Amino acid sequence: MSDLDTAPVARVCGGREDVSAEPVRDLLNPREVSLGSNTVVRRLLPNLGRRMVGAWAFVDHYGPQDIADESGMQVPPHPHMGLQTVSWLREGEVLHRDSLGSVQTVRAQELGLMTAGRAITHSEQSPVSHPRFLHGAQLWVALPNAHRDTAPAFAHHPHLPQVTAPGLTATVILGTLDGATSPGTIFSPLVGADLTLAEGTETRLPLEPDFEYAVLTMSGVTDVDGVRLDPGRMLYLGCGRADLPLRSVSDSTLLLLGGEPFEEKIVMWWNFIGRSGDEIAEAREAWMSGNRFGTVNGYDGEPTPAPILPDLPLKPRGRTR
Ligand code: MN
Repeated sequence: MSDLDTAPVARVCGGREDVSAEPVRDLLNPREVSLGSNTVVRRLLPNLGRRMVGAWAFVDHYGPQDIADESGMQVPPHPHMGLQTVSWLREGEVLHRDSLGSVQTVRAQELGLMTAGRAITHSEQSPVSHPRFLHGAQLWVALPNAHRDTAPAFAHHPHLPQVTAPGLTATVILGTLDGATSPGTIFSPLVGADLTLAEGTETRLPLEPDFEYAVLTMSGVTDVDGVRLDPGRMLYLGCGRADLPLRSVSDSTLLLLGGEPFEEKIVMWWNFIGRSGDEIAEAREAWMSGNRFGTVNGYDGEPTPAPILPDLPLKPRGRTR
């Protein structure tokens, strides 16, 4: 997915100073953002209260949306740099095409993992013939400095490991949870997991005390460490937890995101993650002049032009505002 804000601001994120070393319960509310003409997403990261959770730097939640009589998601070719995109669907299908020649339909509960490295271009759209409902999350992971020039890649993992307990099924999207490891390639210690809870489940999910975590409710209602979390809201949990108490009020699905606090300062603007404003401006110029990022074959339409760069100096402000 693309950040289709018409006037995105550049954000400097990362660094340890605003990571909570102790368990906390900070409720993050979403901001509604229009993607194209017919999709509204709820943006949880970056947020007024928090910019990153581990290396997770971008979290959009969308749907469930009835697209039976609509074209659904239509995101034209756009570039990425310095990050991985994680496409995660609870319902529906998305057709991914990229400048490596990948053409892949990603279905519900399958991982579509794109590593941008230095440069990649992709499009995402609901197939012409698609399921009635679309419900998912689009996530970005910042690449650490040592790996951000890695070769671009796209991987489709239809089968992911699961961890189960009475009333709970956890699907490991990325990283490791309770000894189960996703086949998706990662470049820093992190975890992403989809949690499905039956109504009335009380359980404790094992966590890594060195990681910071957040939980997003995708459907249903669950008390997360005693905080009632409605769909579309995220709870930041800090570090220092060996486990997480969950109690579902109804059948629920949640996303658990965590990781080692990201030490490096990053600059995030539009669909790029870099380390300086100059680097971002250079990437924008390369995209607009048709260089570096390649082209997507088979997409019927024009690529997305980059927004105008903001005329603002970039000031390191840490992970929170
Ligand atoms: Mn994208």
